[in-house]
Amino acid sequence: MHFPDSSLRDLGWSSFFASQLDPGAAGISGRVASANHGRFLVWIAPDRTSVSQTEFVEVDASVTGSLRKSGALWPAVGDWVVLRPGAPVIDRVLNRQTKLSRKQPEREIREQVLAANIDVLFIVSGLDHDYNPRRIERFLVMAKESGARPVVLLNKADLAEGLSLNLGEIVGSIQQLSAGISVLPISALSDANLDTLPAELGPGQTAALIGSSGVGKSTILNRLLGHNRQATTAVRASDSRGRHTTTTRQLFRMPGNWLLMDLPGLREVQLWANPDPGARGVSDGKLEASFDDIQALAEHCRFRDCTHTAEPGCAVTGADLDPARLANYLKMQRELALLERKTNPRLGKETRAKGNAIGKPVRHHPKRGG
Ligand code: GDP
Ligand code: ZN
Repeated sequence: MHFPDSSLRDLGWSSFFASQLDPGAAGISGRVASANHGRFLVWIAPDRTSVSQTEFVEVDASVTGSLRKSGALWPAVGDWVVLRPGAPVIDRVLNRQTKLSRKQPEREIREQVLAANIDVLFIVSGLDHDYNPRRIERFLVMAKESGARPVVLLNKADLAEGLSLNLGEIVGSIQQLSAGISVLPISALSDANLDTLPAELGPGQTAALIGSSGVGKSTILNRLLGHNRQATTAVRASDSRGRHTTTTRQLFRMPGNWLLMDLPGLREVQLWANPDPGARGVSDGKLEASFDDIQALAEHCRFRDCTHTAEPGCAVTGADLDPARLANYLKMQRELALLERKTNPRLGKETRAKGNAIGKPVRHHPKRGG
C-alpha cells in the first residue's frame, strides 16, 4: 500500500479514513475532486520519490462494475475512495465523516449527496434583494443534518450603504436564527473581510459554498484562489441572478492549505434526512435540532404530539415568535412528513392517521395523568 500520510493530510486525510483500510490490502487512496456522469477526477499522491510532497496527480477514474451493482456507497465529490492498483477504477468509497444531502430534485424520492467530508458549510446570502432569512434557515437544517459546521456569509456588504441597510441589525437577526452561529459580512467584489474565511478552517480542512445562484459564490472562490477558475456571469439587472454557466460541483485546493468546494446551480433544495439511531422515523427530531427556540416552547404545549397549528394550549402559536419563522418551520415539517410517508410506508400510515386527527383533541394524548 502506498501511503504518504503527511501529504494526503493536506487533502483532508485523517485517521478516520486510514482506520477503514485493511492492513496489507492493495489499493491507492484518493479524494474525489469532481464528478461528471459516472466519471470521477480523483486526486492521489504520486510516488514520493518523483515529485514534491504537496504535488498530487489527478486521475480520471470510473467505477468498478461490482461497486455499481453492490449498492454500496456511490462516490460523491469530497469522498475518499480506493482505486484499484494499476487501473483508474474506484473499487470502494470510504465511510464519510460528514455528508451534505438533499432530496433529488423534482419527484424522485432519493437522496442526492451533494458533498462528502465537508468540515465547514459556508451559507452564502447576498445583501441585495436575494437576502432571505427563510432560505438561510433551510440551509441551516441541511448543515445540521450533514454534520458540517455552518457559517453564514453575508456577501455584497459593499451594497449595504446604498441600500440603506443596517448591517449590524441584519447580522443580529441571523444570529437569532441559530444559537452560536458565525455570521460574516463580506464583499467578494471589494475583498472586504475575505480573509476571515480561511481563518474558519484548519490545515487540510474542507469547506463548501452553498447559496442561490447570483449570491457571489464563484466570485468568492475566484478571489480566494487568486485567479479565475470559473466564469462569473453578468447579473441580469431585473433579478440579480447570474445565468448558469457551471453546474458541476468541484473541489479546489486553496492557498493556505485548505479546500473549497463550489456547489453551483442548486435551484431547488428540498430536505433529505436519514433516521438517527433510536428515532421513530426519518424526521424525528430533525427540525427541532435547528429550531431550539421552538423546541423549548413546545415543551410547554398541552399535547405531547402538538403540531403547533390549531391545538388548544399550544405554547408555540401563543408565543411571541416571528410568524415567518414558524411558518417556515411548519413548511419544512410537512416536507419531512411527506418524505417519511414516501420512504417508510408503514410509518407513513401512522403519520397520516395523526395528521387527520389535527383539530380533534380527543385523539391527542395529554402529557400527564390523562
Ligand atoms: P454565484 O451564482 O453565486 O456563483 O454568483 P457570482 O459569483 O456569479 O456573482 C453573481 C453576481 O454578483 C456577479 O455579477 C458578481 O460580480 C456580483 N457580486 C459578487 N460578489 C459581489 C459583491 O461582494 N458585491 C457586489 N456588489 N456584487 C457582487
Ligand atoms: Zn404546540
